[in-house]
Amino acid sequence: MKKVVKFGGSSLADSGQFKKAGDIIRADKERVYVIPSAPGKRFSGDIKVTDMLLMAYDLAANGGDLDGMLKEIRERYDEIIRGLGLSLDLGEEFRIISETLKSEPNRDYAASRGEYLNGRIMSEYLGYEFIDPFDVIFFNEEGNLNNYKTDKVLAARLSETDHAVIPGFYGQGKDGKVKTFSRGGSDITGSIVAAAAKADIYENWTDVSGFLVTDPRIISNPEPIHTITYRELRELSYMGASVLHEDAIFPVRSKGIPINIRNTNRPNDEGTWIVESTARKPKYTITGIAGKKGFCAVLITKAMMNSEIGFGRKVLQAFEESNISFEHMPSGIDTMNIVVHEDEFLDKEQQVVSTIHRLTKPDSVEIESGLALIAVVGRGMKSMRGTAARIFSALAHARINIRMIDQGSSELNIIVGVANEDFESAIRAIYDIFVTTQL
Ligand code: ASP
Repeated sequence: MKKVVKFGGSSLADSGQFKKAGDIIRADKERVYVIPSAPGKRFSGDIKVTDMLLMAYDLAANGGDLDGMLKEIRERYDEIIRGLGLSLDLGEEFRIISETLKSEPNRDYAASRGEYLNGRIMSEYLGYEFIDPFDVIFFNEEGNLNNYKTDKVLAARLSETDHAVIPGFYGQGKDGKVKTFSRGGSDITGSIVAAAAKADIYENWTDVSGFLVTDPRIISNPEPIHTITYRELRELSYMGASVLHEDAIFPVRSKGIPINIRNTNRPNDEGTWIVESTARKPKYTITGIAGKKGFCAVLITKAMMNSEIGFGRKVLQAFEESNISFEHMPSGIDTMNIVVHEDEFLDKEQQVVSTIHRLTKPDSVEIESGLALIAVVGRGMKSMRGTAARIFSALAHARINIRMIDQGSSELNIIVGVANEDFESAIRAIYDIFVTTQL
């Protein structure tokens, strides 16, 4: 068995956390390739090293003095080095960073140094070889991952070494300069390495014991999910649940490698398994609940619309012409409801309404705002009677008015719309009926 392990910023925020990561890696000889993030927050209100580096870049780009900021950043690393009892000296590395930023300030280069330096320390600490992702991860002209070249070069490079540290978050752009993924992108690097190494498991170590059934800010201590499929995860992430960068799914998914989300601070917890498909029954009928506030619904009514060919297309065209993407589209016989993000829609609403009038000649167009959407997701729902009924009666008991219902065509989710102010109580009511009362 071969495992690729990625540690997030909070798992490597200081020497104490670094030691926990080291213990985890050493506890299992199958953990052969390690992807570190940059040091993250040590306490709430702390600043991530990546953000400090971006501040240094801003200073450099505006001709300011960045040496004070670089000194603070160096102190973060020196604490780790001292705490681990290493003799590494980052003086030369910081001299190069300072010089490069002064002569040619480059945002991605600045941001990437957080992972680069943590990788240097991790490699020294474990005695694993250091592989610079600049040499093995490539982006194409459009700035997206060049999957083919990366997989080829990286697989060849990994085949030469049994153990390696590969910093997360960056690679080489088509212009030969350092390029980063979007924020949180070390998750993607881990997935790319796992795919190229043909690993058996991609372990993603963070500061929670896996993906939780729902948002811990709404339900205190929600249960972690044991196993979730990629499709369920996509539904929940779309609705705002986040533990893993969305783009981290594709590389491992295409090779059938499961992802195991684990907690560096509670290494004995099994965490969450993210898999292609599973015979394992979910513990509850539902796998997870996620939601977001801030939607509005545009309700278009026209008698006999069902027999008017092309009606739906014209309605959607009105949104397309204003460059607005729609989120959901529940419809009735004489009504169509288009749900959009309020903040994208507000500026353009009158434009959209008049286009709908011009294109479709409706009886009426009404706009309802202040809508929150809640997705109840679960592969188990398909084969269970009464799931929808339970959701609706839970909401009725909690005296919450349902303003919209949409069952995903995959039968993997039921989406309900409620007023923004009912959002939290609606999630609590649904969680209670399925999880607390074990249905
Ligand atoms: N250090 C980067 C960030 O803060 C990437 C990562 O942590 O995954 O976004």
